Amino acid sequence: MIIVIRPNSTQAEIDHVLERIRELGFKPHLSQGEHRTIIGVIGDESQLQAEPLAAIAGVEQVLPIMKPYKLASRDFNKKDTVVAVGKVRIGGGSMAMIAGPCAVENREILDEIAGHVKRAGANLLRGGAFKPRTSPYSFQGLGEEGLKILQDTGRKHDMPVVTEVMDPRQIPLVERYADMFQIGARNMQNFDLLKEVGQTTKPVLLKRGMSATVKDLLMSAEYILSEGNPHVVLCERGVRSFEESTRNMLDLSAVPNVKGLSHLPIIVDPSHATGRPDLIPSMACAAVAAGADGVHIEVHSCPEKALSDGPQALLPPRYAEVMECMRRLAEVMGKTF
Ligand code: PEP
Ligand code: MN
Repeated sequence: MIIVIRPNSTQAEIDHVLERIRELGFKPHLSQGEHRTIIGVIGDESQLQAEPLAAIAGVEQVLPIMKPYKLASRDFNKKDTVVAVGKVRIGGGSMAMIAGPCAVENREILDEIAGHVKRAGANLLRGGAFKPRTSPYSFQGLGEEGLKILQDTGRKHDMPVVTEVMDPRQIPLVERYADMFQIGARNMQNFDLLKEVGQTTKPVLLKRGMSATVKDLLMSAEYILSEGNPHVVLCERGVRSFEESTRNMLDLSAVPNVKGLSHLPIIVDPSHATGRPDLIPSMACAAVAAGADGVHIEVHSCPEKALSDGPQALLPPRYAEVMECMRRLAEVMGKTF
């Protein structure tokens, strides 16, 4: 950690900073130049809080050297983490192609959609049984019945299943039926929920909050990792912006950005990012080209009858075309799915 001292600070203030550092069990290293004074703090930085030091008179800035997300950081693990969901591998050259409807609606429709996406090459089936809807009057999901349908359909089509868990109280139930938990954008900073899924051994798909920075996303991943669950996959799904013609603003730079900062796999969800079937195909392909470890797309065989997110659902033939394009790009990127 480096402490930058204000230009006009007094010697007494500097002495106080040095004393405080020693009191905390660290060794200060004073460097007094002609114009600036800085203090290097020597010791295990993970045991030192930057904020209280920034409150000392005479301190201009405290610059941590270590990342605040330690376990999620690339420094902690130089190699890419590979997360296993059933027989599917995510990361290290293997891609998660997640597809399915926004919500599980009934057995017949899910079976039909699952058949289509499986034939197109999807390897993970999605579908919400607990839906985080903006309006309490909108379809909230089928709950346990939806989970059962999802599990049965996944087994029938030989695809592990991923579904959202919205509340710590739902964890034991969702855990029984799902192969992977999804933490939705609205819950990315529900720290109690993160801690609880962190205490399970199931893989977690952690979606970026709509107003979260990349650092916020990694801090949320840290909550899960620090509880002992190392199986975390991140998901870029767009952030809020001033643009009104798309649902959110897809931050594709988050993919290489996260890859530099973290060893965790990151996938992209162009469905919720754009909210527009005409934009999803190109953004899905761009995600593969940007180095994503997977792509998550909502597909429905009859979008006009969908109980949630119908307007952004891709029809199965269009999904199959996009998958073909992504397959070719994945090959160029040295990846497979
Ligand atoms: C979803 O995956 O259906 C969903 C609600 O996603 P998000 O949390 O990214 O909005
Ligand atoms: Mn949705």
